[in-house]
Amino acid sequence: MTIDLHQLALHSIDSAADELGMADWVRATLHQPERSLAVQVPYRADDGAIRVVPGYRVAHSMARGPAKGGTRFHMDVTATEVAGLATLMSVKTAVVDLPLGGGKGGITVDPKQLSETELESLTRSYTRAIAGSIGPDLDIPAPDVNTGQRHMDWMADEFARVTGRPQPGVVTGKSTAAGGSLGRDTATAAGCRTVVIASARRMELPADARVVIQGFGNAGAPLAAMLAADGFRVVGVSDSRGAIHDPRGLDIGAVAATKAAHGSVIHHDAELIAPEDLLALDCEILVPAALEGAIDAAEAERVRARLIAEAANGPVTDRADAILHDRQITVVPDVLASAGGVIVSCFEWQQNQREERWSARYVADRLEQRMRHSLDDLWAVAAARDLDLRTAAMVLGVGRIAAAIEERHGLDVARELAS
Ligand code: GLU
Repeated sequence: MTIDLHQLALHSIDSAADELGMADWVRATLHQPERSLAVQVPYRADDGAIRVVPGYRVAHSMARGPAKGGTRFHMDVTATEVAGLATLMSVKTAVVDLPLGGGKGGITVDPKQLSETELESLTRSYTRAIAGSIGPDLDIPAPDVNTGQRHMDWMADEFARVTGRPQPGVVTGKSTAAGGSLGRDTATAAGCRTVVIASARRMELPADARVVIQGFGNAGAPLAAMLAADGFRVVGVSDSRGAIHDPRGLDIGAVAATKAAHGSVIHHDAELIAPEDLLALDCEILVPAALEGAIDAAEAERVRARLIAEAANGPVTDRADAILHDRQITVVPDVLASAGGVIVSCFEWQQNQREERWSARYVADRLEQRMRHSLDDLWAVAAARDLDLRTAAMVLGVGRIAAAIEERHGLDVARELAS
């Protein structure tokens, strides 16, 4: 990890707390996760050996509903990173007004070094280790960096074994066969697409505006395909192995096929460029869809896009944010631009709890509607208070969480003081 994501999240919360004139005790409540768990995750390697790696699950806030957020498998996962990501999830669910709080989990491991059987052993072991802290009414994991449907299916199945009864609502992002929602796998991309289209229109960017996307995973890959189909020109993409560029626009279907066949976008027939040069490509729209801290001060100085839509969590550092603001580059923050995934996760959880199955069209329409409304809310708060979009999003989200905390704890404290 290149940045302290927890500090970044707390700094953003403070900017909203100052703007809202928040009581100190509410601010202190937001600064600390409600609950954090650090566990050992032993798993069996294919050679028969048992290996042990660290895992985490943090519920930052349950003031507005059960905690909600993904599970990340990455070598850079630490307790503080997970706490920071959980904090951002609380704000994210509040900005788009879901009846959920925020949480996150992760395992410090390089999943690319593991076989399928090792991954399954690891994921099931992690589920057993955190089983007492998760549940459909408590804390609901989902996919995040390097995890997807099959990991969620293993988690749901292992949770059912541990508790003795199937409860599909314990995790979201499952396969449809295991109770997943249609449209969940491409939801983060679909939500970000709505943000890009609406913002580009508002900023009067050309219909075939050039787009650069950093990251070709859960969010970046389907987003590239969607924007290309919409008529945008995707001129640069990257993954963890490198970056490629074509000023005429890349054939995204072919790039995806190359990645599926050979493991990386770098094998596609296009100009290979240095990863740091990707962010400085000539374009109108830049979408960081990889890891936190991707755009620091040096990169911010070189950005040529007019619009940044944050599909990743925490991709822009504090210093970079100030520079982008001075350079009048519009940044639609992660807590909204990456919220599509958790919105459809919420739909999945609601379908599981009510034993319903929604059509793909119904899911897509409801997602688009909620993204549009939230974006309108955001621009309205920004205009009314004369704030940049990130601070406005924090004011909107943190204000909603603070109201719920005051309602819950404020009453407890009042009762205690009266007795
Ligand atoms: N990992 C995704 C996020 O960061 C999705 C979380 C969820 O669906 O709960 O927003």
